[in-house]
Amino acid sequence: MPPVVDLKKCTGAGVCADVCPANVIEIQNGKAVVVRPDDCIECRACEASCPNGAIKVP
Ligand code: SF4
Repeated sequence: MPPVVDLKKCTGAGVCADVCPANVIEIQNGKAVVVRPDDCIECRACEASCPNGAIKVP
C-alpha cells in the first residue's frame, strides 16, 4: 500500500519526498501529497525519515 499522510502532523518539511526513490511524494501547498501511489515500492523510507511521524505505510 502507498503511504498515508496525516495532514494534521505534516509540516511540509519535504524529507519524505527527498528520500523516496520512486518520486511518489510531492509537497503541494505546504503538505506532502502522494501523487504517484502506483509507483510505491513500499520501502518505508518516507515513514522512517519523517521528523513528525506524519507519514505511514500501511
Ligand atoms: S514507501 Fe518508499 S517508495 Fe513508497 S512512498 Fe515511501 S519512500 Fe516512496
